Amino acid sequence: MTMSDMKMKTELIFIPLPASGHMASALELAQLLINLNNNLSITILCSKFPNAPSHSLNRSIYASQPQIKLIDLPEVEPPSQELVKSVEHYILTFIESLVPHVKATIQNIFSSDSDQNPVVGLVLDFFSVPMIDVGNELGIPSYLFMTTNVGLLGLMLYLQKRQIEDVFSDSDPELLIPGFPTPFPQSVLPNGFFNKDGGYVAYYKLAERFRETRGIIVNTFSELEHDVIDALSDGHTPPIYAIGPVIDLKGHPNLSLDQAKHDLILNWLDKQPDSSVVFLCFGSWGTFDPSQTREIALGLQRSGIRFLWALRFPPTADTEEKILPEGFLLWMEQEGRGMMCEWAPQVEVLAHKAIGGFMSHCGWNSILESFWFGVPILTLPMYAEQQLNAFRMVREWGLSMELRVDYRKGSSSLVMAEEIEKGLKHLMDRDNVVHKKVQEMKEMARKAVLSGGSSFISIRKLVDDMMSS
Ligand code: UDP
Repeated sequence: MTMSDMKMKTELIFIPLPASGHMASALELAQLLINLNNNLSITILCSKFPNAPSHSLNRSIYASQPQIKLIDLPEVEPPSQELVKSVEHYILTFIESLVPHVKATIQNIFSSDSDQNPVVGLVLDFFSVPMIDVGNELGIPSYLFMTTNVGLLGLMLYLQKRQIEDVFSDSDPELLIPGFPTPFPQSVLPNGFFNKDGGYVAYYKLAERFRETRGIIVNTFSELEHDVIDALSDGHTPPIYAIGPVIDLKGHPNLSLDQAKHDLILNWLDKQPDSSVVFLCFGSWGTFDPSQTREIALGLQRSGIRFLWALRFPPTADTEEKILPEGFLLWMEQEGRGMMCEWAPQVEVLAHKAIGGFMSHCGWNSILESFWFGVPILTLPMYAEQQLNAFRMVREWGLSMELRVDYRKGSSSLVMAEEIEKGLKHLMDRDNVVHKKVQEMKEMARKAVLSGGSSFISIRKLVDDMMSS
């Protein structure tokens, strides 16, 4: 009998970041863990960014699941406006302000129930590692859950070889990090690495704590990232558990997508020929400046390829008629070759047989979903670690077509319609070797999570470790 089969009742406490992709991955991981051991129960401490709307988490799904409990943390004062110059600094300050509330909430869980099961671990998001202090005070080990990949983990740990004041600059040489076959140009490092208003310091401080955890859980699979995993198995880094792809196959609920819109999109896809449609979707924060939106629209029009485009405008933007090229909406309607929506049911769309390619910002969840359904990507990264992801997809793994690997949201250099047209045609060319490689990756990704697969074995080891703590 392994520890994962043990009958003792135990509990884990998850502290995810209140961003939809992070929450969704945490909930999927929670589900996976309790499926493996039904003596495990999980409490998820939910927070909310100040002044943000409540997240669209569908609580009813979890209300019927007695082993998962959601507890709301109190809302905290917004960090000062000064901090908005760096999103990472803002988030870190927000998380730090939650530390006393997390401690009080966990203490309250213990004191209010004398039958409380022993808590065998805190499962912390990348951004919530300051909660390691709470774990230390209460004698609970912490696990880091990277909702992205081992590549970013390796890059972050590499920061420890630098100084905290050593903010990156565009003129720095390329970075060769152990485990990566290709050096990284500065242009694909996360935005925050160049930020002198606390962005770089926030990354540095977060990374400083990673090695204090008992284990690092990563939403990846070892077939994809074994070189970096091996390089990090150095005796200084906690064990890495590659347990993915962990994907929310039910899709994220979103207020902009009601049942009628959802059905409209899928009915339209049903009418399109197999593998003929390109899906354009740029994550939960993916909005472009009007000038870039126009170039994408023109690129689509020139390519003549059928498309489904999840397009959201910044709240201050003009109406879509004013932003899109003149006559675009009319052309789209008359030709019947395209459809636009604010929020797409991405997982169902990628699963649809009409989809032949995906123009994506290369968020990690989107990449995993594209592997899962075997749909190749044309890269247009925007923020966070997406440039790094795009670079690795194109140059390291040969699993994507390159539009840009170093584009940044708000950048003054536009990706022009001609480039987009060319990229889209390249993406939809089924003879391109990338299509075959992505199919192979689909097989590997699915096999990894099946009984006996690498991620399946890894998650059982993780549960064993948790139970033995
Ligand atoms: N998503 C979706 N519809 C949209 C945009 C995004 O369902 O219109 C989902 C997508 O399936 C993925 C997640 O939101 O699971 C986005 O996560 P990712 O890591 O790709 O990007 P992020 O939003 O973190 O930038």
